[in-house]
Amino acid sequence: MNAPFAPSRVDGVRAALLERPSQLLIGGEWVDAQAGGTFDVHDPATGEIIARAAEGTGADIDRAVAAARKAFVSGPWASMAPGGRAALMLKLADAIDAHADELALLESLDGGNPVSSTRHVDIAWAPNSLRHMAGWADKIAGEVPLGNAGAPGFAYTLREAIGVVGAITPWNAPFLMAVNKIAPALATGCTVVLKPAELTPLTAIRLGELAMEVGFPAGVINIVTGMGGVAGQALVDHPDVNKISFTGSTRVGRSILAGAAGSMKRVTLELGGKSPIILYPDADIARAAAAIAQEICFKTGQFCAAGTRLFVHAEVHDQVVEAIAAAMKQIRVGPGLSPETQMGPIVCEKQMERVLDYIAQGAACGAELVTGGKRIGDKGWFVEPTLITGAQGHMSIARDEIFGPVLATMQFGAGDDLDAVAAMANDTDYGLAAKIWTRDLGTAHGLARRIGAGTITINGGGGSSPMPFGGFKQSGLGREGGREGVLAYTEIKTVSVGF
Ligand code: NAD
Repeated sequence: MNAPFAPSRVDGVRAALLERPSQLLIGGEWVDAQAGGTFDVHDPATGEIIARAAEGTGADIDRAVAAARKAFVSGPWASMAPGGRAALMLKLADAIDAHADELALLESLDGGNPVSSTRHVDIAWAPNSLRHMAGWADKIAGEVPLGNAGAPGFAYTLREAIGVVGAITPWNAPFLMAVNKIAPALATGCTVVLKPAELTPLTAIRLGELAMEVGFPAGVINIVTGMGGVAGQALVDHPDVNKISFTGSTRVGRSILAGAAGSMKRVTLELGGKSPIILYPDADIARAAAAIAQEICFKTGQFCAAGTRLFVHAEVHDQVVEAIAAAMKQIRVGPGLSPETQMGPIVCEKQMERVLDYIAQGAACGAELVTGGKRIGDKGWFVEPTLITGAQGHMSIARDEIFGPVLATMQFGAGDDLDAVAAMANDTDYGLAAKIWTRDLGTAHGLARRIGAGTITINGGGGSSPMPFGGFKQSGLGREGGREGVLAYTEIKTVSVGF
């Protein structure tokens, strides 16, 4: 085993977790939840309790929002130059790098994902997100249109920080999602109240500790752990929160959008997906099949942009199915902390039951189970990588976001032109991502134009700069990342000046 994740280190982290006080970060202090409640946090690989977190309620959200408001309007943060904010963000990025092994371990214990992927994806990408957004801090600007040279006056726009941001994050990528929300908020001068998912609060708490260590002023980053329907809802309902940045299910996103309407809060919603993969016979079939199998097993399929509906050309259907099934059978499933593990458990028992139920529904509707489909063992919440063929557009396995390692295939044929194939891909309430495999440029870009999705990946994609990410249709509202992502934390004001 790699030394950073040696059993003795894992034991040390586990012991420290059980001993640490369950507290909230409010106004620069670690404090108990006012109602005194705590909740258990489980290891999905065993079901054991690994920690307790403070159960914040509306009273704690009130305190956190007041602290965030105070930091926004007065004190060192409010008067800090953009370069000063950027410097603190860069220090936080360095601190994450310095604690990357420990954070990866915590993230794997909490969410169940393989430590190789938490270390090299979740934790490794978070500092990049901070550094990218730190670069924006002193580049966010309004505009002065040329206007009419002879006019008695002129007008310009100001970009201003939106204010207090309520950030609500899911359990499938807890640390990265938290950083992706905090980073643009800090870059623009906003302050934040973060409510992490109750299933996976541990790395968000550690993020708060690191933020305090590197010197963020009190109240700039507040962390309130607790239940979605209580602490999360209180944040959404709070009259002094200017924006909610939410990543999670479409169901909760919808309720947040409705809840925000009363006070006209700004919202960014990063929601669910049911992303199509389209595979043509001219693609590199071996590479595509390996990538498709790997992607559906990444985070045990608990990955919003995962390709879950595979439309494969009839000419290569059997070959592709065989290759994907073979690749799935090779995936090593096990506890996230085991170095051999390529796919960990599902995050909780309820979610595991939900995944198994979808698989059963698919079989009951006449789709064919090619591989997988079962729970593994009776300890922890493991499900086999699962491939189902013969799905049809109306089936729940082809329509609903399963959020498990379940891939459903459908076929198209030589008679289906680009419009017909795009129509199949677009036959969904979602529009988060789409993946295209073909060597034909016209086909690839023709489909990219026709498919309604926020991110289109051709032949596995490439490039690494932070790009805007988000969904069409019920996959969300707004974008996270890049220029669009940072501007979403600002208000624009027009100033018109007469001479
Ligand atoms: P969820 O919607 O159940 O919970 C997300 C967060 O919302 C949690 O912190 C939860 O406590 C909170 N919450 C729940 N009810 C609330 C309420 N009434 N008011 C305010 N907050 C509330 O989602 P999840 O199950 O944690 O995450 C999985 C979902 O997230 C999937 O649908 C997945 O596609 C989506 N997701 C989307 C993206 C993206 O960028 N589009 C990224 C990751 C995950």
